[in-house]
Amino acid sequence: VPPTLRWYIKKASRKGVATVYGAKVLLERAVGLRAKCARLLTYHRFGESHGDAFCVSPHEFERQVAMLARQGRAVSLQDLISHVSKEREIPQDACLITIDDGMLSTLTHALPILEKWKVPAVAFVSSGLVGKSIPDMPERYMGWDELRQLIASGLVEVGSHAHTHRSLGNMGLEDARFEARISKETLEENLGVPIRCFAYPFGTKGDFSSATDSALREAGYEIAFNSMHGAIRRDMPRFSLPRVKIEGGEGLLWFSLISRGALDAWRIVDNNLWRLQRVRKEVA
Ligand SMILES: [Zn+2]
Repeated sequence: VPPTLRWYIKKASRKGVATVYGAKVLLERAVGLRAKCARLLTYHRFGESHGDAFCVSPHEFERQVAMLARQGRAVSLQDLISHVSKEREIPQDACLITIDDGMLSTLTHALPILEKWKVPAVAFVSSGLVGKSIPDMPERYMGWDELRQLIASGLVEVGSHAHTHRSLGNMGLEDARFEARISKETLEENLGVPIRCFAYPFGTKGDFSSATDSALREAGYEIAFNSMHGAIRRDMPRFSLPRVKIEGGEGLLWFSLISRGALDAWRIVDNNLWRLQRVRKEVA
């Protein structure tokens, strides 16, 4: 399937699901049927790159962040941990912004917007890629000084995105244990802060398992996320929590619905078509 056609098929499917389930979300809100839950929103890069789902324009991002801030729905990792461990209530449809891969635009484009609206976020960084540029990648990875600047803002917490950005589910368990441990140690040594959370590279159904979840627990993480779609409710397994991918070029109305659960049902696609999602580069 040609890339442009793939793009339109994917966008049409996302909008189809979001329309049907967005109507359900609005209906449930109207009759007060909504359970308290949180969502982690997954971003990757920021900039003006049309036709790249991994890239959200700064203008779009600011409108999304402003919406969450104005509605009092933006929460921190600590708020989320307290929610999952039942220590504290969170706002209805709370959202935690997460930015994967540690690309430079996290610092140059996302941080100023997060600071302006005082919205917290988590940046998931692959420790072995810090400071590198990879041919064909649209931007380079942040270096250690840049990651320290991000943390110094007081708004962004760094989490591990493994050491080499390979699928933990696709390697031997000993290698997965090593990735979990070495990435935490490397980030902690260089950044001087505890690394509490982990996001699985790729995070589709084949990229994690109960064995890799245990490897993360043994390595000392408090909480871990994959890329399956869905909301986070209390009592969910702490090392296998879902997120919701935010794509570029979808508009504020869609964001409003998606951030409230209109794409949670995309999990059906995650559960059944995950082998198709494996068409990808090793670093993405
Ligand atoms: Zn990634």
